[in-house]
Amino acid sequence: MTIFSKIISREIPADIVYEDEHCLAFRDVNAQAPLHVLVIPKRVIPSLVEVDSSDATLLGHLLVTASQLAPKLGYANGFRTVINCGSDGGQTVNHLHVHLLAGRHLGWPPG
Ligand code: 5GP
Repeated sequence: MTIFSKIISREIPADIVYEDEHCLAFRDVNAQAPLHVLVIPKRVIPSLVEVDSSDATLLGHLLVTASQLAPKLGYANGFRTVINCGSDGGQTVNHLHVHLLAGRHLGWPPG
């Protein structure tokens, strides 16, 4: 179990900005941009390398949710979505999550 399961079950607090049957979105505790939200599935999937075609609808739902949240939360000038995967990908919490970042110009390539 990760810290994100405890956020889903409300054992630890988070600034939740959206919730539905399949996913939860909350502000990252260590925000890297004026808007930094994590969109996570309620069903635990440890990382993007552990998905298969049966997860396609859920993965699409996470992206659609992220896309709709950015303008809804007041960020109309674009955004970035990131899914870190594995140690080289920079993943630190083993519960799949989509980072949604907005509110400043984001450089490329990532560090
Ligand atoms: P990763 O590095 O796995 O892609 O991203 C994990 C993210 O989770 C990090 O950006 C980190 O700041 C965030 N995070 C870790 N623990 C907590 C927590 O307890 N609450 C919230 N809101 N975010 C967390």
